[in-house]
Amino acid sequence: MASYNPKLRDKKYNNWVKAQLAVLFTKEGVEPFVCNEIKQFQLKCLHDICYVNELPSGTCCSSCCTENLVKCPTNRICNVSYGKCTYHRNVTTRYNSSGCPNKICHNLKTEIQNAHRYYGPSYKNSDATQWCSNFWEVAKCFMPPDGYKDRSSATETDFNGIISVILNHKDFHGKVHEDLNKKINIFEKVREIGRKVRHSSTLEVEDSDLHHYFQLLQQMLSDPGYLVTDTHAQNAKKKLIQVIKQF
Ligand SMILES: [Zn+2]
Ligand SMILES: [Zn+2]
Repeated sequence: MASYNPKLRDKKYNNWVKAQLAVLFTKEGVEPFVCNEIKQFQLKCLHDICYVNELPSGTCCSSCCTENLVKCPTNRICNVSYGKCTYHRNVTTRYNSSGCPNKICHNLKTEIQNAHRYYGPSYKNSDATQWCSNFWEVAKCFMPPDGYKDRSSATETDFNGIISVILNHKDFHGKVHEDLNKKINIFEKVREIGRKVRHSSTLEVEDSDLHHYFQLLQQMLSDPGYLVTDTHAQNAKKKLIQVIKQF
């Protein structure tokens, strides 16, 4: 059987498998950090909205869907051709100018908008009826514009999505030492590793590239702002070192 497919014994293929593992372990290492930050952001927003609008604390809403909250047309969301939007297909779900009946959702949308580094939340990914009950639906507004609609937890979300939340949500600025305002930063570099490994057409990674990937992933997990003292990040780093040792 061993001779069935020489690819299985190929060094560069094995490197690719190691790179995939390294990306997976790194993702698991930063997941709790991302979850905690977004959970705190969601709770703070809801608290502030209740306070400002004099609502009883703990007021929630689950009746506004994303289509209700996004104006038509909105750039990058509405595909308007011949005057018809493919996103707001149903006239009854068009933007309701009077806002959320519970005074929560349109305010939460403003908070999400303001927290986005590039002011372009990916609402299309997100189910606004769950903004109060599932913080991951809030997190998804900070991921790439498409492909996360059916991902309802961090575990179900890929590396690209998780790192994008750190890069796009302004609150992470205060939690990482790296300057996230710089276009090229360590988080951006590791996101690129994830993409390269995932989209490798040959399922191969060169030795030198693998070495470089490990270096950058470890560097990110050691960011002195928070991750360096976080148990999950440090466990991930230990796992990476074990993978390296299996060269
Ligand atoms: Zn529209
Ligand atoms: Zn609402």
